[in-house]
Amino acid sequence: MDAAEKPLSTFKFTDYDCIGFDLDNTLSRYKVGAMIEMEYGVMANFLVEKKGYSRKHLLQPFDHNFILRGLIVDDENGNILRIANDGHILQASHGTKFLQDEEIETYYPNRHWKVSDIFVQDPLTTWNGPYSEKMRTLLDYFDIAASLIFARAIDAIDEQQNMVQDKYNVWVDILDALQNMFNRNHFPTGEGEYFTKMKTHPELYYHKSSEQLLQWLRQLKHQQKKLFLLTGSHVDFASHTALNTIGPNWKEYFDIVVCFAKKPGFFTMRRDFLRIDGNEEGAPVSLNDLQLGGVYSQGNWTDLHQFLSRHVNKSMPKFLYIGDNLIQDIYTPHIHSHCDTVTVCEELEAEGVYGYRQWHPDQHFLVSTIWGSYFHYNNVNTNWYHLMKKHSKLCIPSLEYIAALPIDHTYTGNDV
Ligand SMILES: [Mg+2]
Repeated sequence: MDAAEKPLSTFKFTDYDCIGFDLDNTLSRYKVGAMIEMEYGVMANFLVEKKGYSRKHLLQPFDHNFILRGLIVDDENGNILRIANDGHILQASHGTKFLQDEEIETYYPNRHWKVSDIFVQDPLTTWNGPYSEKMRTLLDYFDIAASLIFARAIDAIDEQQNMVQDKYNVWVDILDALQNMFNRNHFPTGEGEYFTKMKTHPELYYHKSSEQLLQWLRQLKHQQKKLFLLTGSHVDFASHTALNTIGPNWKEYFDIVVCFAKKPGFFTMRRDFLRIDGNEEGAPVSLNDLQLGGVYSQGNWTDLHQFLSRHVNKSMPKFLYIGDNLIQDIYTPHIHSHCDTVTVCEELEAEGVYGYRQWHPDQHFLVSTIWGSYFHYNNVNTNWYHLMKKHSKLCIPSLEYIAALPIDHTYTGNDV
């Protein structure tokens, strides 16, 4: 990051009293290449078999070069976009075909689209409601394969109709395909294939946490830091992931575990915490009945903040949250909960940029020679670069990276 843009700040984990972790792709690292390719296959099969999509287009060999974190889907036009921080459209494709400048102007006069302009003002306005049906952001390794599915589905429709359509309506089916994979009811039943594959062959999809990382967590606890796990996964899948990455004693690292947290709403709404009975959600739990060492479902930031504050011997404890999803884990807690954040971004190492050595076992899944860098295009930074710079104190390629350094190491803040 250009040092002239902002005075360099310093950052230390030990300055915080309560430190929260997202689970998937933050504390728990996935073998993302294998997982993304598997997700593509599951979704493609679903769309071909259940929704009648073109076998010829969707069941082509997987193309990892089309996939990039942060692509934006314009469903009605059948396009995929990348934008700058002011909403200016940097690149666009129609289906898998890249658009020339004149074509971009035809779709988006002055290279702006009303919906993405609204998004850059406040990303949450397009999260739910009518705008969420027009625009989707693909932000993590659970959904980025959907960009290739979407683009190939558009190619198929254009080929079948022999022309570009005025309006498409493909996303609704892709959403069904995503829900078929990740619906929490499918973990126990084995429907939707995704959870079955994760359960049958965890070694294909999870990296084990290093002893160094576990030691780093233990050292923070030793210093009386309160550690919490805050995950969107339902308790059964979260337990499976934590067991296969952190290990069988995973709960011992945390003062409280919150599953199925429904981020970003967790930070903006006031849903009850629910008891967990077996793997089912039970009765609501009031703030006064939350227990240290407990595992709960849903809940909200206001109560979690109060609960942990009571257990820290300080009047104004400092909170930090670490995650990888820029809207759910970074923007929303920072804006709505005034919580400092750290971004985990594996692309830093996959691209080998901003001082990080180029090293990533699944590098070719995370970089794209056709879209270019996740962080910029033609010397203009992407909206995602700005978002992580503005709303997080520090950006790191993985927790393993910081676990190699002492817990009180002083970082140059937000020096991506
Ligand atoms: Mg995550």
